[in-house]
Amino acid sequence: MKRLTILGATGSVGASTLDLVARNPDRFQIEALAAGRDWRKLADLARTTRARAAVIADPAFYADLKDALAGSGIEVSAGPGALVEAARRPADLVVAAIVGAAGLPPTLAALEAGTSVALANKEALVCAGGLMTATARRTGAAILPVDSEHNAIFQVLEARERVARIILTASGGPFRMASLAEMAAMTPAQAVKHPTWSMGAKISVDSATLMNKGLELIEAFHLFGVRPDQLGVLVHPQSLVHGLVEYIDGSVLAQLGPADMRVPIAHALAWPERIATPVGRLDLAAIGRLDFEEADRVRFPALALAESALAAGQCRPCVLNAANEVAVAAFLEGRIGFLDIAAVVADTLDALPAACPETLDDVAAADGAARVTTSQFVTQRAKRSIAARRSTG
Ligand code: NAD
Ligand code: MG
Repeated sequence: MKRLTILGATGSVGASTLDLVARNPDRFQIEALAAGRDWRKLADLARTTRARAAVIADPAFYADLKDALAGSGIEVSAGPGALVEAARRPADLVVAAIVGAAGLPPTLAALEAGTSVALANKEALVCAGGLMTATARRTGAAILPVDSEHNAIFQVLEARERVARIILTASGGPFRMASLAEMAAMTPAQAVKHPTWSMGAKISVDSATLMNKGLELIEAFHLFGVRPDQLGVLVHPQSLVHGLVEYIDGSVLAQLGPADMRVPIAHALAWPERIATPVGRLDLAAIGRLDFEEADRVRFPALALAESALAAGQCRPCVLNAANEVAVAAFLEGRIGFLDIAAVVADTLDALPAACPETLDDVAAADGAARVTTSQFVTQRAKRSIAARRSTG
């Protein structure tokens, strides 16, 4: 029996994880469930999974959650500190599935407590990958990648000295064939309509800008300890080959599977064993062909920005990530256009100092400064786009 704590239980990865837990009642038990604001869904999930504890990050919903779980015997707490406490509770595995840098403190707390982490929350690793991997090494906790590409690499990876290159595939997102002019007019509804994966809104927009693949390069750098120049991206619209490792002898090992997150999540939950999943089997004869192409960094400048941040190191990836979180939120609120996302991230990277070390305090400071700066750039662009709409309308 493995005891699991799920951070981000009400999200897309949380739902896929809980589906696997429900199908394997003899293997998994729930210690704690945590979510951001959706206290109703959290209360339902806590009751059905018989969790010992339920944590809501936004303290405004403490009383609602407490009332909803009255009489259940489930411990209720709220606030960012409670999230960290939940991650520290004794468990065999913490599933880190919060979206954004908000997931860093509890994920790091789990590693500090020596609890292995099934990691979906790539932003935590982008912000503080050095700290997280050093902490995991010190306490003996494992970081098991849930992100499909990284889970693929993890499955086919041999000793690092034998690796020549690691290649992450990218579907290319919903705008793979779109021109820059077409992209300028794309709406949030169009951007979140991913061709191959069903995911939360933020990562869906990141997939449309290819920032997601950029964040994943930084994630891979920390997870697999290779040099940045050994990491590559390959666009593969079918999303069936998830990652490839080229070895020094020219052999390439790849992992394939249906585009269903329950496959990599099952791998991380059961590792080093495997469990059955209900996902459709890969029928390559029916699929017929697999296509590959280069990523276009002119139409998708976010990828190039992330590659530069990875090469520069220090807190640049953290600044990139914070700026992107603010920009994506502004795009989803209809305040800025799709192409403005990468533009305000670039503006923020230009505006902020290049160097700062990577302690948790420095990461928090760099993250905070980037959010303030990006918000200013967003406001400027939002005003300009209102003015432009007035002058044309
Ligand atoms: P989602 O938006 O569906 O869910 C996010 C979860 O985080 C929710 O439970 C929400 O309540 C919680 N949350 C949000 N803000 C919070 C805060 N401030 N404090 C505490 N909890 C908070 O997102 P998702 O698609 O499930 O993605 C989760 C993470 O997994 C992201 O980092 C994403 O990049 C990564 N990931 C997702 C997929 C996928 O298929 N969805 C694939 C690979 C990686
Ligand atoms: Mg991925």
